[in-house]
Amino acid sequence: MRIALWGSDPRIYETTVKEYITGKNGKLRSIVTVKVKMEDRKLVEVPGSEQTLKCDLLLIAAGFVGCEPYTAEAFGAELTGRGAVMTEPGHYKTGLPGVFTAGDMHRGQSLVVWAITEGRECAREVDEYLMGYTV
Ligand SMILES: Cc1cc2nc3c(=O)[nH]c(=O)nc-3n(C[C@H](O)[C@H](O)[C@H](O)COP(=O)(O)OP(=O)(O)OC[C@H]3O[C@@H](n4cnc5c(N)ncnc54)[C@H](O)[C@@H]3O)c2cc1C
Repeated sequence: MRIALWGSDPRIYETTVKEYITGKNGKLRSIVTVKVKMEDRKLVEVPGSEQTLKCDLLLIAAGFVGCEPYTAEAFGAELTGRGAVMTEPGHYKTGLPGVFTAGDMHRGQSLVVWAITEGRECAREVDEYLMGYTV
């Protein structure tokens, strides 16, 4: 359908906006994009892939950019580079006594099934922490 309308697929993947270009009135006129690729779990720019596109409306859909920080800040919990609450790998206890985390706050944006699994595993760890053992 899109190809029939525009002659080619207008969607562009693996690309990010590098620069916004505004006119004299401060209104957005165009954007400079650059291709990106994954290297060592980080997005890196592909040199020489910049492209200038006409643009008068830019909607940013950034997806998950980290947990809301206020709860972690209230407890003084340390965050990972991706904005989730830091724990030892495979565990739910934070660096603070008696403070545990699970679900999206722990693993970053994920799925309901992971939230349920982590909630159960975390409850087990809390039980062990409180009782000294768990069944
Ligand atoms: C738009 C969207 C679509 C999604 N679609 C899917 C899908 O189709 N399938 C799927 O499996 N997953 C989907 N997910 C992901 C899924 O919703 C999450 O992975 C899951 O809900 C995480 O569960 P959670 O218990 O970790 O966190 P949440 O469900 O976010 O629960 C956290 C709770 O804590 C409460 N809270 C926050 N701060 C405080 C506070 N200070 N005091 C008390 N309570 C507080 C919040 O109100 C919230 O109720 C989607 C997510 C989004 C945003």
